[in-house]
Amino acid sequence: MNPEDELGQIDREIRDCKACRLHSGRKNAVPGEGPSNSDLMFIGEGPGFHENEQGRPFVGAAGRFLEELLASIGYTREQVFIGNVIKCRPPGNRDPQVDEIQTCSQFLDRQIQAINPKVIVTLGRFSMARYFPKARISAIHGQAKWIHGRLIVAMYHPAAALHQPSLRATIQEDFSRLPEYVSQAGETTQVEDEPPSDPQQLSLF
Ligand code: URA
Repeated sequence: MNPEDELGQIDREIRDCKACRLHSGRKNAVPGEGPSNSDLMFIGEGPGFHENEQGRPFVGAAGRFLEELLASIGYTREQVFIGNVIKCRPPGNRDPQVDEIQTCSQFLDRQIQAINPKVIVTLGRFSMARYFPKARISAIHGQAKWIHGRLIVAMYHPAAALHQPSLRATIQEDFSRLPEYVSQAGETTQVEDEPPSDPQQLSLF
């Protein structure tokens, strides 16, 4: 299947999914959105109130800040893929639970495989744990690491910067490095397939 059709297929499966308890409280599942050939993919945590209402990722206050950050490096949100670790809103915006993340991970694994982005940016601790299970965000934010043939960059979640204004400049500075990472990653010829996420990692935080 070509990447666009594959993303469409994953999208439909997510909207029909009843594999974990979160389906029962959702108004809309939020598969994520963006071009199937994006160089740059952002992975957040999960839908909040506004995302659940609209079925689209990052459409609330954190999303407005994310759009501002993208604009500062010359991107619009339509040019990148924006997704989440879990696709349905947890009740009261509580943290996703390990079994929910595990059940949902096959969708994110398949989205990454279909899009095959050069650079993945994790936003917040739940997507960071996928790649850097033992890391502290304060130690690694903004740094890029080659993992399975692509550059992975952990960043603070934009919502954290809204609650803690001192993080604003930090996340802005981290974003300013992204164009360089994209061009660096573009110089490599081979991106390997990423293996499915390792459930063992998820129990470590
Ligand atoms: N926060 C997230 O992590 N994801 C969204 O889609 C919205 C807010």
